[in-house]
Amino acid sequence: MKYISTRGQAETLDFEGVTLTGLARDGGLYVPEEIPTFSAEEIRAMRGKTYAEIAFEVISPFVGDCLTEGELKRMLDATYDENYGGQFRHPAVAPLVQTGNNDWLLELFHGPTLAFKDFALQLLGRFFDHFTAKRDQKLTILGATSGDTGSAAIEGCRGRDNVSIFMLHPKGRVSEVQRRQMTSVIEPNVVNIAVEGNFDDCQALVKACFNDHAFRDEVGLTAVNSINWARVMAQIVYYFTSAVALGAPDRPVSYSVPTGNFGDIFAGYIAKRMGLPIEKLVIATNSNDILARTLETGRYERGDVYSTLSPSMDIQISSNFERMLFDIAGRDAAVIAKYMEDLSTTGGFTLDANHHSALKELFAAERVDDETTKAVMQEIYASSGYIADPHTTVGIEAANVCLPDNGAPRVTLATAHPAKFGEAVKAATGVDPVLPAHMADLLTREERMVSLPNDEETLKARVREGGWS
Ligand SMILES: *Cc1c(COP(=O)(O)O)cnc(C)c1O
Repeated sequence: MKYISTRGQAETLDFEGVTLTGLARDGGLYVPEEIPTFSAEEIRAMRGKTYAEIAFEVISPFVGDCLTEGELKRMLDATYDENYGGQFRHPAVAPLVQTGNNDWLLELFHGPTLAFKDFALQLLGRFFDHFTAKRDQKLTILGATSGDTGSAAIEGCRGRDNVSIFMLHPKGRVSEVQRRQMTSVIEPNVVNIAVEGNFDDCQALVKACFNDHAFRDEVGLTAVNSINWARVMAQIVYYFTSAVALGAPDRPVSYSVPTGNFGDIFAGYIAKRMGLPIEKLVIATNSNDILARTLETGRYERGDVYSTLSPSMDIQISSNFERMLFDIAGRDAAVIAKYMEDLSTTGGFTLDANHHSALKELFAAERVDDETTKAVMQEIYASSGYIADPHTTVGIEAANVCLPDNGAPRVTLATAHPAKFGEAVKAATGVDPVLPAHMADLLTREERMVSLPNDEETLKARVREGGWS
């Protein structure tokens, strides 16, 4: 399997190359040259298989010959099968919970950090380890986080031989649960850095390090953000496991996806292209509604970023949307390059009418503000006793608004455990959600981190020092 850039000017790479590279050198995103497909019969044959077994079938064609069957199987078992050390604490890995006659939640929060990002990052850490060992290389992962990505990336990389991870967070400005999920990982290859500044300062520091090419090559700098193809790929799997459990390929199904960077919902679109009978994909957004506006008006336009109850979706520019545009524009890289140039010079672009209508055919979108989120969270709790986190609640409400109750299952992706956003949940429902047993002692665990001033040279010096000795 070969991968090409959405902007058409970067070299073609294999799976190993795109996993280690992330962003293409022409500024574009890598996508598979062809999307593999499954026949109805092949999908039917997935019934009754385990999560790890279905993952193997879905992921194999994307990996091509970069891993042997045995190597890939071992990695998937170690990631998604409790019997081989998998860290997902539910036997179904991604269980479906029925909440109405045709309504389901796909719970994606049983991984080590209680959010769906574990599905991809638990696996990505293994890919990094394997490919760097093969090339006899070391990788340094550098990132800034205000929430879920940091802890999931740290969990995915902890204890790996060839990888060290440096994760910046704004000192005193992340919740105690979120900080401790990162800082209580005390392996020598994990360095948490509390920066004396805000989240934008952290991001600016990371960007400055990546822009210093000499430094970048010296330490083997890599990012783990959601534009890495391997992350999208891993997320395709749970669309297959859930659709098959609900009767695919013989019964259509729709999904509502709490959306920020468009990674998770793009995985759903690829699953549809691969042969799943997905009727509609609902883009569920909070007040940061650039995608909902685009679908309505045909104009993609940057706006202000608002802080909401669902902070992991507080994003204005959805990077993975570029992959979607590439497909609906008939994979014409020149069109994408033009859209992206307009975005960076004028802050927006207007979709060609054909591209706009193709998007509306595939997707629906709904914006759910904080007031509605609180009311819906409360309503769900009162009527069923189910406690949904704020991100999931945005998805549930968008499903209610956008999807007809026509007998086809409506599945909302439950992207985070309610205890991860305990304050918001308590304010809406009066219930203080408890952390799962494996994290019950989180608030008393030993922490390890270093505090640094908001200064590029000090940060680089600390990264050069490497992990803890
Ligand atoms: C990251 C995240 C999202 C948004 O996912 P994207 O792939 O960026 O669209 C939604 N909910 C939670 C809890 C998240 O952590």
